[in-house]
Amino acid sequence: MAEIIDGKALAARITASLAADVQQFVVEHGLPPGLAVVLVGEDPASQIYVTKKVKLTREVGMRSIEHRLPRDTKEEELLALVAALNADPAIHGILVQLPLPPQISGKKVLDAIDPGKDVDGFHPVNVGRLSSGTGGLVPCTPLGCMMLLDTVIDDYRGLKAVVIGKSNIVGKPVALLLLERECTVTVTHILTRNLPEIVQSADIVVVAAGSPGLVRGDWVKPGAVVIDVGINRLIDADGRRRVVGDVAFDEMAHARAVTPVPGGVGPMTIACLLTNTLKAAERAMA
Ligand code: NAD
Repeated sequence: MAEIIDGKALAARITASLAADVQQFVVEHGLPPGLAVVLVGEDPASQIYVTKKVKLTREVGMRSIEHRLPRDTKEEELLALVAALNADPAIHGILVQLPLPPQISGKKVLDAIDPGKDVDGFHPVNVGRLSSGTGGLVPCTPLGCMMLLDTVIDDYRGLKAVVIGKSNIVGKPVALLLLERECTVTVTHILTRNLPEIVQSADIVVVAAGSPGLVRGDWVKPGAVVIDVGINRLIDADGRRRVVGDVAFDEMAHARAVTPVPGGVGPMTIACLLTNTLKAAERAMA
């Protein structure tokens, strides 16, 4: 049977250890790391994420500042708030929750965040640092994928990794992180030909496609490690709601290890956001 990589348990261990590090930070610097979360509008999924982020930030002893702005907020108003947060020495991390309403350019706003406070790792400076392997803040979900992989893989050198999905927030950064560990990486997407065949050669498969049950058992070679990033909300014929990943989980018995959905990558994302906030705070104080 494949090992089930428990993201919930790992995220809990990370946050427990962060809480101790935050205490130490307060002793050394006389203030806690501060994370500002900005939410524009009432998107229900974003509201849930923001509430969870704020709760966990406080649980580890960090300072959490929330800015909930109305849906008709003007771009200049949001940019002014970002500028004020950039200038605030008690704020070490800034997260602007996406998606933003149509009157606001997400790119303009993300580009306006101080790269040193960009705990989502989406600023072009951090993207450049990741691609040149020169440090910087790494996007949270890809960082979480690597932490999960680290629980089962000691030596990545020369392993064949296939990433399904090439988004800027998951697929591309995961591919760069795997390349940094000296894997041989293939990035695939919706127009890739012979996808099952490509996946069959992989020692590591990371799937971030948003396509329920896309990766079937016979795509995955025995002994491969499979990380399922997908979050797909389905409604069964009897009206019951459930969340499934991009991997046919029940067909993965021959894999070496696999992440479940829910309970795999999902819980790691917030743990990594807090990891990045502490890292940003430590760098600001260095
Ligand atoms: P996206 O829509 O931006 O990108 C999807 C990528 O997958 C694209 O490159 C597309 O070409 C590729 N793709 C789609 N269908 C495919 C198919 N049938 N075969 C091969 N490639 C295919 O999505 P995203 O933002 O990268 O998110 C991907 C999934 O990960 C979604 O389900 C999302 O909800 C989930 N996600 C989870 C977390 C988390 O915290 N666990 C965070 C971010 C995203």
